[in-house]
Amino acid sequence: MNFDYTLAFAKELDQADPLASLRKDFLFPKQNGEQFIYLCGNSLGLQPKAAREVLEQQMANWENLAVEGWFEGEDPWMFYHKELKSLMAPIVGASPLEVCPMNTLTVNLHLLMVSFYKPQPGRFKIIMEAGAFPSDQYAIESQVRFHGYDPKEAIIEVSPRAGEYTLHTEDIIAQIAEHGAEIALVLFGGVNYFTGQWFDMEAITKAGHAAGALVGFDLAHAAGNVPLKLHDWDIDFACWCSYKYQNAGPGGISGIFVHEKHFTDTSLNRFAGWWGYQEAQRFKMEKGFVPEAGADGWQVSCTQVMPMALYHASLKIFEKAGFMETLRIKSETLTAYLIFAVNQVNKELGFEQFKVITPTEAADRGAQVSIIAKDKGKEIFQQLVAHQVLGDWREPNVIRLSPVPLYNSFEDVFKTAELMLKISKEILI
Ligand SMILES: *Cc1c(COP(=O)(O)O)cnc(C)c1O
Repeated sequence: MNFDYTLAFAKELDQADPLASLRKDFLFPKQNGEQFIYLCGNSLGLQPKAAREVLEQQMANWENLAVEGWFEGEDPWMFYHKELKSLMAPIVGASPLEVCPMNTLTVNLHLLMVSFYKPQPGRFKIIMEAGAFPSDQYAIESQVRFHGYDPKEAIIEVSPRAGEYTLHTEDIIAQIAEHGAEIALVLFGGVNYFTGQWFDMEAITKAGHAAGALVGFDLAHAAGNVPLKLHDWDIDFACWCSYKYQNAGPGGISGIFVHEKHFTDTSLNRFAGWWGYQEAQRFKMEKGFVPEAGADGWQVSCTQVMPMALYHASLKIFEKAGFMETLRIKSETLTAYLIFAVNQVNKELGFEQFKVITPTEAADRGAQVSIIAKDKGKEIFQQLVAHQVLGDWREPNVIRLSPVPLYNSFEDVFKTAELMLKISKEILI
């Protein structure tokens, strides 16, 4: 598509957008009665208008039913997660049996590594992307230590080539092949939080399996952002948070995926709890853990009803959007327009003040655009916020802007670029 850098053109794209009305399902932060342009869905998604209502519904259930709420009422808490499972499955490309909402992300990463990081003498290494989100680095280091290995020896990081920011799939695959028989686990992000690079998850999984390793993904920045096919790509396990692209509120519940091929493997370790026990027998309170079939067997504690209700409210909007397909088409265009607009700003300034480090190929990125602001970046970022454009700042010099197809418009993107231009002129020229 040929883009024009004009407000009129942006408005035309908005008029042709079949998802434009979904914006009304969300609440935007305001200051002095004026709405922010919100480009921070990569960090915390906006509040669905329905969120308060679903929460109030559960408060009423708690008030009126109290303990009987587990089995009584319209949506008994005992089975509430099942409704979420069928809404989560199409977002990540899995069967409902393969997914389950539970806990929080880093906790799930640990629980899944307990099952799928099975180090042995000679094959104990984990290969991951360099510059992974810190929580993942710490979780992986501590798991390695827990098994008695030295992280310096056991963790292999794939780094960008000199002078580059993102990874080449061929380099990832070459490193997996090079370390082959030493690798117990390939554990990557789906989309890297810093660069916005969407890795070729299917190719990485194939390479990992060819090396005889298991393959898992942290989908914090991928789930609800890019279309995924976890089952078909044969990924062993994955987990994600629901509060970024999935708008389930701060600290929202996490989701896990376990490929069905592992369901009958009784050799897998688990850190078990009563809620993972066979559902039909759970209240017999018997000795000896027997897991429920599917991802549900990884549950530990009883259903977190309130966070699940918030996630449910947001998932219903995804359902309304037809899940990921139409969203992805809009997202590719929206993000391409942002990249185009940023380049336009550079042209008007006459120098490359803003350098996009996110891959420009649509297949290699999601909604997020990471931009190095070369000169006085922090000041420019602060001015954007002061003018009610909310993205986020990553040290030392990166502005992350994420137009989210559920609630952002092409007009948002154009106005943001215009403001970047105006502020840069004021500060730099
Ligand atoms: C956001 C994010 C997290 C956060 O984990 P929590 O346990 O939810 O605090 C972890 N890993 C990645 C890759 C993330 O992007």
